[in-house]
Amino acid sequence: MFYNGPIVENLDDLPYYDFSDFNLNSYKFPEKLEIFISKGCPWRCSFCVDWLTEKRYRSMSGERIYQEVLFQHRKHKTKHFRFCDKTINGNIKAISDFSDLVIGEHSPPSFSIQWSGDAMIRPEMTKELLSKMRQAGCVGLGYGLESGSEKVVRDMGKQFSTQLAEEVIKNTHAADIFTSINIMIGFPTETETDFLETLNFIERNKQFIREIRLTYIGCRVLKNSLLYDFSSRFNLAKTDTDFWMTKDKGNTYEERVRRYEIACQHILNLGIDLRVNSRSAKKNVKATQERILK
Ligand code: SF4
Repeated sequence: MFYNGPIVENLDDLPYYDFSDFNLNSYKFPEKLEIFISKGCPWRCSFCVDWLTEKRYRSMSGERIYQEVLFQHRKHKTKHFRFCDKTINGNIKAISDFSDLVIGEHSPPSFSIQWSGDAMIRPEMTKELLSKMRQAGCVGLGYGLESGSEKVVRDMGKQFSTQLAEEVIKNTHAADIFTSINIMIGFPTETETDFLETLNFIERNKQFIREIRLTYIGCRVLKNSLLYDFSSRFNLAKTDTDFWMTKDKGNTYEERVRRYEIACQHILNLGIDLRVNSRSAKKNVKATQERILK
């Protein structure tokens, strides 16, 4: 199912992306390009299978990212680059060097770009680095926080504390970077108390969070994920993708729908932009929004 062939070890050896077969002007945002600067992900979150699909994590160097962006900017007049990677800061040196080069004196004065992407919460995301990234054109970062409960974050296999998450979110906002976070309700080990901790986290940090991307109806148990393969460690009685439940039946599909609805209402009440990832989910959010505004 997953790719098992050879991989390109050094992404700097790849040629520049070739968009010559595409009529970029026919796209909704022709001034925007979506490109990758890395492969895979350095983390192994238990609910995720994305890290499995591209084998080991590899990243272009800062110099190579800079050359790619400069090339595409000159060729297509691209003003905004969306880095579609699992994470754009898996290699901190690369993103820091890239920022230095964009800011640096050998950048042509006309080289004014914006860029955005998803990033990991890690201690290296300091005020200084974020401010440099902003100066280099970073306008948006999305963080996979997923939960405001220390225990759940740990069970997910994330490598940060909720305290660090608060710090990085605040620093990102302070650097004037649009700050988005992912939240996933109903992880198998999430209790009602953990769920409320997530709602509290959001409320405590509402002034720093511009957008929340909420996983529709919460955690799914995907085949080949650690949750699926080691289901008993996570107290799972049933591993159906959407309709799984814990052995004590405390975490069921119905319970996740309940928590999801409460989370939607909470986020909307706090005035934070809510984004969901499916058409049916969008309808659901709209219905929730209408109910709240009545
Ligand atoms: S950081 Fe994101 S992409 Fe990487 S393993 Fe975790 S959920 Fe998957």
